[in-house]
Amino acid sequence: MLKVLRKAPQLRNISKTACTLTGFAKTLTQQEEDPQQEIFVFVGAPGSGKGTLVEVISQFKECTILGVGEWLRERKANETSIKNQMCNGELLDDSLIKDWAIETLTTALTDKKKKMIILDGFPRTIAQAYVFLNWFAENKELGHFSVVQLHANLNFIEKYALNRASCPECKKQYIPVDGSPFFSKILGICDDCGVPLEKRCDDTPETLAKRIALYRQETAKFLPILESNPHAEKTNLYMSCTKENPLDQQLANFKQILANENGI
Ligand code: AMP
Repeated sequence: MLKVLRKAPQLRNISKTACTLTGFAKTLTQQEEDPQQEIFVFVGAPGSGKGTLVEVISQFKECTILGVGEWLRERKANETSIKNQMCNGELLDDSLIKDWAIETLTTALTDKKKKMIILDGFPRTIAQAYVFLNWFAENKELGHFSVVQLHANLNFIEKYALNRASCPECKKQYIPVDGSPFFSKILGICDDCGVPLEKRCDDTPETLAKRIALYRQETAKFLPILESNPHAEKTNLYMSCTKENPLDQQLANFKQILANENGI
């Protein structure tokens, strides 16, 4: 099992489940056939693989994804001050996020076919944690929510975040899979669209270090607030990527388990 982030703040351990990607896939498939929608709050350092995992889950599960970073990148890309803050690795003001988050969550509840509601990047501050918990308290039928915390060591994060790229057209993600960059068939060109891949402006060594520091600082504050809620369940998910156990193989197994559940 990999080390958690070096110098990571000591968080209260109320772990219910500690698992690898395979274990997590099994947990997802073992969920009882519950007509109730379920909320998953994904928490993890930048570059720990949250977005990739959420994307894979969405291929097999009917779900609503509340992806704050994606929303900001797509919808607010033309607003210079927001873009600058994001490229600098700073968190945006809570007021910008909270109304959209609540509206998205509330809309998600009306689509009962989508059993999973996945929060990727929200909450990220104490104020946002209370916004979420207040909303949850007003929707008592939900019963509980799951906090899925991704743990990855710095080696994983640096390789993952500094080597990833995506297609500006189809949004396909190209991620490092075995400790080395995952190259497209033609280096730097999307396999499907034939256009140059792009890197995120905040995936530079300096900004990544800043984002990791901010994550540690903010997580230490808001995570205990979420976890101490009597309706919270917690899963610790350990991310790893080695030559012996490459990430693409783990993701393939993850997909296979979810596909089997759906009879695919
Ligand atoms: P992510 O894609 O989750 O790595 O987020 C990219 C950037 O979007 C972050 O570095 C922040 O600048 C901004 N951002 C994402 N989520 C939030 C949030 N919940 N609150 C404030 N800023 C956010």
